[in-house]
Amino acid sequence: MSYVLSSYVPNVLEQIKMRNPDEMEFLQAAQEVLETLSPVIEQHPEYHEQKILERITEPERVIMFRVPWIDDKGEVQVNRGYRIEMNSSIGPYKGGLRFHPSVNLSILKFLAFEQVFKNSLTTLPIGGGKGGSDFDPKGKSDNEVMRFCQSFMTELCKYIGPNTDVPAGDIGVGGREIGYLFGQYKRIRNEFTGVLTGKALNWGGSLIRPEATGYGAVYFAQNMLATRDDSMQGKVCTVSGSGNVAQYTVEKVNLLGGKCVTLSDSAGTIYDPDGIDEEKLAFVMELKNVRRGRIKEYAEKFSGVQYMEGKRPWDIKCDCAYPSATQNEISKADAQSLVKNGCFLVSEGANMPTEPEGVEVFQKNNVLFGPGKAANAGGVAVSGLEMAQNAQHTNWTREEVDQRLQDIMEAIHTQAFNAAEEYNMPNNYVAGANIAGFIKVANSMLDQGLV
Ligand code: NDP
Repeated sequence: MSYVLSSYVPNVLEQIKMRNPDEMEFLQAAQEVLETLSPVIEQHPEYHEQKILERITEPERVIMFRVPWIDDKGEVQVNRGYRIEMNSSIGPYKGGLRFHPSVNLSILKFLAFEQVFKNSLTTLPIGGGKGGSDFDPKGKSDNEVMRFCQSFMTELCKYIGPNTDVPAGDIGVGGREIGYLFGQYKRIRNEFTGVLTGKALNWGGSLIRPEATGYGAVYFAQNMLATRDDSMQGKVCTVSGSGNVAQYTVEKVNLLGGKCVTLSDSAGTIYDPDGIDEEKLAFVMELKNVRRGRIKEYAEKFSGVQYMEGKRPWDIKCDCAYPSATQNEISKADAQSLVKNGCFLVSEGANMPTEPEGVEVFQKNNVLFGPGKAANAGGVAVSGLEMAQNAQHTNWTREEVDQRLQDIMEAIHTQAFNAAEEYNMPNNYVAGANIAGFIKVANSMLDQGLV
């Protein structure tokens, strides 16, 4: 490779660091992707000539706005709202909204960047975006959440639309929040359109959307297991988080004959050696989705369960791990502990839950490692199917959507697997997913000129 081409990736990474010095999560995500693209750049000098890496790491548009609202005591509160419209070369921007006190520009830019490649892998025509607010829904009344969502959407509605940008849920944004956001959009714009996904069934939602990310992460794991003639049957699994993704991961693992023994939240982890069966999962769903309580209550309700305050699940012995809470929740030491205890598969339900040093540990130890942008793409894939149903004014059956989800997860696995083989990095799903996701977007950018 010529000197110019071989120094292209490091030079671009250096520029990104200089331009965005305080954006640690964004830099982490950009580095992870760009470092795997060198062999592609070597074969495609046109990406260098047209400065595709510089362009793909710069959002097309960043929107940041004030969100004022009144709490139940009548006091004025002010939060910050964001929407990152990262890349629209293969379709309208698409990606979730996150409401969490940790939300900042760096976290949303990392998520939007990942989303571009993930959406490309789904085989659907959707670009990448992400948004949210530092608003914390925890401990707020329904009325406070509604007033916040209405204020947030009053500004956001100027920038989104069914053919422009279609947000969905993420951490802290579930069915309740999507309802309030949709209601306010409809009221201001006076139009009933598929501007958000994750809607309820009565007003344009898709069957299987709530299940899609968790189910998809397990389907991706099944595809990885199949490369070793294995299945989920009898596998002991650890799961982190206890929200949307974690809940439906447990449900699907159970349906496929595996056993999940942990769940967690930001306060601690429960370890249930007997397994979280259907009845116990129903308790978790009520606890988390209706009463909005803490996972600790699980250990108080069921016998033989250990609660580990302030701990993550990664010291528990398992065959497969499903990190489904948040970014950087598996450190190098956590990865070592998982490997030492016999874990041989990790399917990332969350976005970037494993730190780069942890990924290295998994790869060195031949762990089947499904990175988030491939393994958790089921959520956005069914969001894409929700958009398709809205556009056709139709509803598909549960079986139809689930079958399409399974087909998409298989297609994502095949693309990542094949790209890794083609570029001489067999079984490296990180490189494979990055390369396959990138090529489609990069070629579309070339086709559309300098925009
Ligand atoms: P939820 O809000 O439903 O649940 C999040 C869970 O993770 C909660 O149990 C929460 O605990 C825990 N959590 C959040 N932040 C932290 C933290 N900093 N430390 C420890 N635990 C934490 O979110 P989702 O299940 O929707 O999302 C989980 C992950 O999956 C995120 O990374 C998200 O980006 C990703 N994802 C989600 C998709 C979706 O369709 N929903 C699609 C693709 C990816 P607590 O209640 O204590 O905060």
